[in-house]
Amino acid sequence: MFEAIRNWRRRRVLKRSAIPDALWRQALEDRPFLAIYTEEELARLRERVVLFLDAKGIVGAGGHNVTPLQRVIIAVEACVLVLNLDFSYYDGWENVIVYPDEFIPGREWEDETGVVHRDEAALAGEAMPGGPVVLSWPDIEASGDWNAGGMNLVIHEFAHKLDMRNGDANGCPPLPATMSPKQWQQTLNDAFEHFGGRVDRGDETAIDPYAAESPAEFFAVLSEVFFADSTLLLHDYPDVYEQFMAFYRQDPAARTESLRDDV
Ligand SMILES: [Zn+2]
Repeated sequence: MFEAIRNWRRRRVLKRSAIPDALWRQALEDRPFLAIYTEEELARLRERVVLFLDAKGIVGAGGHNVTPLQRVIIAVEACVLVLNLDFSYYDGWENVIVYPDEFIPGREWEDETGVVHRDEAALAGEAMPGGPVVLSWPDIEASGDWNAGGMNLVIHEFAHKLDMRNGDANGCPPLPATMSPKQWQQTLNDAFEHFGGRVDRGDETAIDPYAAESPAEFFAVLSEVFFADSTLLLHDYPDVYEQFMAFYRQDPAARTESLRDDV
């Protein structure tokens, strides 16, 4: 019964809130890394984007006016992660907030001696547990194509959202029953240690050294690389690539290679 209601509601949303063709094409052209997807997958992605935009508010802050194209681009990148996952991975929160530049959260926190500190560091993006995803538009714009070296702000913050589905972000999102959490943790921990060693030695890494910050950041940064420069992840950390392939149920590197062969 609930399933029937859900399907009916879904059909109604898809019909009522369709994205105009020209706007959809513009969004795809703006994000060249999406060229790996087949027509069928893009059609499914478009459906997910419509449902995402119906379920979540994308609102400007700090004087930023979110254009229709910006809304679609943000939703497309958010939905790339859950293209083959249950949509409920994004349940439990409502809004995406977009600033015209980096923003200062200005959060206050008390240390063990009772002194109150204020967070004054400017951020390009932030995902809050049970709360909004906050993004700076220029940073989204700068991470559009695969020449950005696998960096993609929206994918990064939404990977944190997946990770937060089972508590605080720790680099281990809820896995499907077919996957072993132990193997996931071991693979990611080994790679995290290895990457941290490279960063500590001052090695030049193609993957953003920010990944060495914590297991949560490692998962988010490597998720960016998985989607936006998949052959880099496959080359540097094939075991992580394999875990991500099982989790996200996608194999972007195979597509990227065949796409590059075609060019
Ligand atoms: Zn992060």
